[in-house]
Amino acid sequence: MYEQLYPCDHCGGRPTVGRSQRVAAQLGDDGFDYGGFGRDLGPPEIGDTMPRPPGAPQTERIVNIHCDECGMATPWHPVGDDMDRALDHVGLIWNRRLNRPATQTADIQNLVEKELGAPDVQFVLDLLARTEDEWTTRGPLFAMLARRLVDATVVAADCWPIEPVLKDAARYRKLAHHAQSVDIDGERYIQFPEVYNPNRDPYVMYEAEAAAAVDGLPDRKRW
Ligand SMILES: [Zn+2]
Repeated sequence: MYEQLYPCDHCGGRPTVGRSQRVAAQLGDDGFDYGGFGRDLGPPEIGDTMPRPPGAPQTERIVNIHCDECGMATPWHPVGDDMDRALDHVGLIWNRRLNRPATQTADIQNLVEKELGAPDVQFVLDLLARTEDEWTTRGPLFAMLARRLVDATVVAADCWPIEPVLKDAARYRKLAHHAQSVDIDGERYIQFPEVYNPNRDPYVMYEAEAAAAVDGLPDRKRW
């Protein structure tokens, strides 16, 4: 189902599964309390999957689909005992909210949406390259295939190259470790360090240069 989710209509970001929990008991029920694990906890937070202490009100698992860039999200949906069904439910809501033509059952578009994924780029390009006639009837179909491939690529892109993501994450943590909280005009700011850049090279990509400079900082304390 993951590849069938459309990229965020608002910012083009990647739809992501959010997991959380909420108190199952309602206001007035025996299991409800007003303490830190009850009403005072506030709305569910993405990623809150820590089991509650035995004495606290018991919770139910919930999921949503949200954009990992802008945070646009579907409502939370209880998992019950079938995670796949819950994900299908929120996945449908996510796709329905975006401005795409509605897919009809048994439609060829439905087939394209379900069966075509990012690895099929070569196949579709080959199909396109070998087409010689009937452009007026095949054109819209190719547009549909291309749209699906772009959607699937955006959704799947960040999943594969894990190494650069981890490296960048390590660089950010290093920067955060060297950052300071400062007071400027009575407001609190996080001040990142000035990073010495010995290898100023106009032919190197800016990102690579910044990454190399951060790598030159002393390692953060691991304790
Ligand atoms: Zn977004």
